[in-house]
Amino acid sequence: MSDRPLRGKTAVITGSNSGIGLGIARELAKAGADVVLNSFTDRDEDHALANEISQQTSTSARYIKADLSKGDEARALITQAGKCDILVNNAGIQHVSPIDEFPVAKWDAIIAIMLNSTFHTTAMALPMMRAAGWGRVINISSAHGLTASPYKSAYVAAKHGVVGMTKVVALETAEEPITANAICPGYVMTPLVESQIPDTMEKYQMDRETVIREVMLQRQPSKEFATTEQLGGVATFLCSDAAQQITGTTISVDGGWTAL
Ligand code: NAD
Repeated sequence: MSDRPLRGKTAVITGSNSGIGLGIARELAKAGADVVLNSFTDRDEDHALANEISQQTSTSARYIKADLSKGDEARALITQAGKCDILVNNAGIQHVSPIDEFPVAKWDAIIAIMLNSTFHTTAMALPMMRAAGWGRVINISSAHGLTASPYKSAYVAAKHGVVGMTKVVALETAEEPITANAICPGYVMTPLVESQIPDTMEKYQMDRETVIREVMLQRQPSKEFATTEQLGGVATFLCSDAAQQITGTTISVDGGWTAL
């Protein structure tokens, strides 16, 4: 098998100027895919990331700005990409608050960015996949797409919604060479997670190692973070021929969290 099995494929990864999305983009590009990076900003650094990936992997990488809280921008992202064989719906935000105090604007933003955008991008990408005769929809849900935690109502609702949406897309494409699956990570070490460590150390008066083990990874039996490279590896596997009959399901990358 070629070591660049995704040569000739174009992958659009939403929310990919950092963290898991960037890790997935890097791994798909290593496997030969041309990648489209995205976020809501339009900074030199965003375009520089795409150039760096192009140079490292001898693929074409582009950055396209689109604010996925807006349905028309989510749709325009796919139109501007021009081709979308692999769609990775990854963009996400979080807000933690009891339901009766949950800010309405935060609820609306979380549902729009994580659930509604998945509907819009998928609706635009499926005709392109059908025209190309091959496609992969990979939705980044969460352990919170399968279980709940208090104070994360919008996030848990959106991530469960993404799992449901994934099943529908799989059934609507079941007889075509297109698959749709959701990856459900537990805690992954990203800049977002790293940035929470100092405050948590202060709040609990704990050292870094204790915060990681006893607070952050309390529900992750492996007591280790997943890495963005591992998430990229799982996404690359879902694009392989071996995964052609894997559709409509969830793949947990959570160190045993959902086995508890
Ligand atoms: P991150 O903050 O590093 O990445 C989020 C990405 O989404 C960024 O690129 C950000 O710019 C983008 N984004 C946010 N709002 C956007 C908008 N309006 N329009 C376009 N892009 C927008 O965080 P991450 O940890 O890499 O999270 C990526 C995904 O993985 C999210 O969906 C998150 O819920 C999910 N996830 C993360 C973890 C974890 O432990 N890090 C665990 C489970 C699931």
